[in-house]
Amino acid sequence: MFKKVLVANRGEIAVRIIRALKEMNIHSVAIYSDCDRDSLHRMYADSSYPLHGNKAADTYMNMEKILRIAKESNVDAIHPGYGFLAENEDFAELVEKNGITFIGPKSKTIELMGNKIAARKMMAEAGIPTVPGSVGGVASYDEAKRIADAIGYPLLIKAAAGGGGVGMRVVQKPEDLQEMFERARHQAESVFGDGTVFIEKYIDDARHIEFQIFADKYGNVVHLGDRDCSIQRRHQKIIEESPSSALDEATREKMGEVAVSIARVADYQTAGTVEFIFSKGEFYFLEMNTRLQVEHPVTEMLTGIDIVKTQISLAAGNPLPFTQEEIHFRGHAIECRICAEDPLNGFMPSPSRITDYRTPGGIGVRVDSGVYKNFEITSHYDSMISKLIVWGSTRKEAVARMQRALREYVITGPKTNIPYLCAVMDCGEFQSGTINTKFVEEHPQLFDTAKAICEQLYVPFGEKKSDYIASIEWRLGFAL
Ligand code: ADP
Ligand code: ADP
Ligand code: MG
Repeated sequence: MFKKVLVANRGEIAVRIIRALKEMNIHSVAIYSDCDRDSLHRMYADSSYPLHGNKAADTYMNMEKILRIAKESNVDAIHPGYGFLAENEDFAELVEKNGITFIGPKSKTIELMGNKIAARKMMAEAGIPTVPGSVGGVASYDEAKRIADAIGYPLLIKAAAGGGGVGMRVVQKPEDLQEMFERARHQAESVFGDGTVFIEKYIDDARHIEFQIFADKYGNVVHLGDRDCSIQRRHQKIIEESPSSALDEATREKMGEVAVSIARVADYQTAGTVEFIFSKGEFYFLEMNTRLQVEHPVTEMLTGIDIVKTQISLAAGNPLPFTQEEIHFRGHAIECRICAEDPLNGFMPSPSRITDYRTPGGIGVRVDSGVYKNFEITSHYDSMISKLIVWGSTRKEAVARMQRALREYVITGPKTNIPYLCAVMDCGEFQSGTINTKFVEEHPQLFDTAKAICEQLYVPFGEKKSDYIASIEWRLGFAL
C-alpha cells in the first residue's frame, strides 16, 4: 500500500480524499492556492505546500508545479479528484514517467475516453448501443446537413473534447443548423482547444442513467449499480439519486452487464463511470468518465462501500475485495449539489464570505463540504461548495429526509441554490419520479416556489427573526 499520497485538488473533493487517506493510515499531502490558505483541505492534510497564485492555470492546473511538489515531498501516488487535471492524459503520463502512481486508469485509456468520438466508435464497433449520429467528426456544414437529413431533428452538436455540459448545442430545425454548427465549432476551439464536433440524435424524454464501475489489474470488473442524474441545468447535474425510478429489474441488470462490458472493451482499471442516455426502455452509451464522480456518495450510501478507499487500493495493485454477488443495495439515496449560486438570478455565481454556517444532521444525513463559517468563497473556482446526501429505506423516506435536511442547512453570506433544491423536492412530479433531463426548463414555476420557501426557512434559536429574514433577503436578492 502507498505510504504518502498527494491530493491534486481543492474543496469538498480534496477533503473527501484526505478523509479516506487518514482512515487508511496513509500520509496525505495537500496543495493550495493563495486564496485557499485557510481552506479545510489544507487544515485536514498531514502536510501542505503552497502553489502561489490563484488562477487555475497557475495552481491546480499547473502540472509542473504539482509534479515538483510531488517529487519534493516524495509521494508514492497522486489522486487528481475530479475536474482540473483528473482527465488530462498528459498529466497522467508525466506522473507515471516520474515513477509516481496516478490514481486513475492508464493515460492511454484517459486519452481514448476523453475523445467522445473515439469512445463512441470503439463502443459501436464492440456492439454497444450508441446514440444514432455521425461516425466521426463533422468537418463542414454540408456534411452536417447530410447527417441531419438522415437522422432528423432535434439533434445535438457536441464537442469531441467536451465535458461538464459545455460545448453542446441542441438544433431544433433545419434553418438553425448552419449557425449552430459554426458556433459549436467556434466554442469547442476556444474552450477545449479542439474544434472537432460531431452530431447525435437528440433523445427526447430522456433520463441520464450511469453505472459506477470498478476494475482491478487482474481482469476483475464489477458495477455498483446505477445513479439517475436527470435533474440537470444546462446539461449539468444538480440532483442525483439511486436507484433510478425508471428502471425495472431486468433493464437494470442488462445495463449493469453492458457497463461491465464497456469497461472490459476499454481495458479499464480502478474506478470509473459509464454514462447512458435512457428513453422509452432503450439505452445508449454516452461517455465514460475516467475518474471519481461528484455524485459517488449516492452509491456509497446504498452499498456501504467506500469508493475512494477502494479506488486507492486498486491503484496500489490490490485485487478487487468483492465479487459482483457480494455487492448489495439497500434503500434509496439522493444527493443535492449545494452551490454558491443565485437561483433567482439565472444561477449566477455568488462569491462571498460565509457569515453563518450550520449543517443538517440526524439519521441518514451526510454532508461533504469544503467550507465553514468565515470561509471566503472566491470566483476563481467552481461554485459548488458542498454536497448534501441522504439515505432512506424507501425513495419516499429519502425525499422527506432531504426536504427537512435542506431546511436545516443554514448558509448565510453567499446566495445559494438551497431554496431551489427545496422547491424541486417539494414538487409532486419529482416526488412521483416522473422526471427527465428537461425537468428544470419545463418547471419554471419552481423559481416562484423557491422564493416562497425562503419565508419558511429555519430560523436559528436565539436569533431575532427579523435579522435572519434580512440576511435571507440579502442572500436571495429580493424583499420578503
Ligand atoms: P460528474 O459527472 O462527476 O458529475 P461533472 O460533469 O459535474 O461531472 O464535472 C465534474 C467537474 O469537472 C466539474 O467541476 C466540471 O466543471 C469539471 N469538468 C468536467 N469535464 C471537464 C472538462 N472537459 N473541462 C473542464 N472541466 C471539466
Ligand atoms: P459531458 O461530457 O458534458 O458530461 P455528456 O455526453 O455526458 O457530456 O452529456 C451531458 C448531458 O447532456 C447528458 O446528461 C444529457 O442530459 C444531455 N445529452 C447528451 N447527449 C444527449 C442526447 N444525444 N440526447 C439528449 N440529451 C443528451
Ligand atoms: Mg457526461
